Amino acid sequence: MSEQPLVGVGRTALGVARVRAHESARPDRLFDDPYAAEFVAAAPGVIPEPDGDRKHVGMVFAMHAIIRTRYYDDYLLAAGLPQVVLLAAGLDTRAFRLPWPAGTQVYEVDLPDVLAFKEKVLADATPDCHRTTVPADLREDWSTALTDAGFDPERPTAWLVEGLLIYLDNEAAERLLTEITVRSAPGSQVAFEYTTTATAGVLTQARATPAMAGYSSLWRGGLAGDSADWLRDHGWRPSVHPLADLAAGYGRPLRGTAASSLLSAMRDG
Ligand code: SAM
Repeated sequence: MSEQPLVGVGRTALGVARVRAHESARPDRLFDDPYAAEFVAAAPGVIPEPDGDRKHVGMVFAMHAIIRTRYYDDYLLAAGLPQVVLLAAGLDTRAFRLPWPAGTQVYEVDLPDVLAFKEKVLADATPDCHRTTVPADLREDWSTALTDAGFDPERPTAWLVEGLLIYLDNEAAERLLTEITVRSAPGSQVAFEYTTTATAGVLTQARATPAMAGYSSLWRGGLAGDSADWLRDHGWRPSVHPLADLAAGYGRPLRGTAASSLLSAMRDG
């Protein structure tokens, strides 16, 4: 593996992999990602271990990533749909580690360098589904690449947009959700991190925290306004799940306040 294999926003995927590696080593883990540690080992020093101020911020970020990983695992399995699209899949290994119903087709879309790094590390791993990677920039025409890879818009799809929208500007985030919507047959589902107008204030605060600079300098804002309202206005039925409730339900209550929520939505016929 070459040195410094990931650049720019692609590195954020490694930060999540490191959190998943730590969680997978716990006896009371909420999921088991046996490949996460392999990604971290293949990119030594690319993301320094948090210290000082960064430790606290790192723990908040880690809890968010842990709870959301488990929630989205459950969401995808409960959806039980034959076609799954992981947008900004990063180093997500759900195609390999979840017990998919027979015949499930999983598409993973992310930037070419991220997927190239991932494929090298996973060269000897076998997915538990039909898995297709689709290198594409999600600010551009990714849906043509997805269709060319075999995606069928007539089949109901479980979409996951995990940890992406904040890295897109308002326009690109809305365009992406619109693309998803027009390619969602009745019965499709989608999940991503819930944002409201209040989120902007939280992000401004986080931007002012030097320890967050590695991530916050890459943030572009994501969807403007309330994302559940956006979904309702575009033919979806959203449900919002506060992170604190999910964490308590998993037996891992959060310490302190955690205002964030996750969202999933169904598309009616
Ligand atoms: N969903 C994965 C997970 O939770 O493990 C990765 C989350 S990581 C925080 C953000 C991901 O978004 C990275 O893999 C990055 O490459 C991807 N990403 C950001 N901007 C992108 C773009 N314009 N096109 C494609 N992928 C993008």
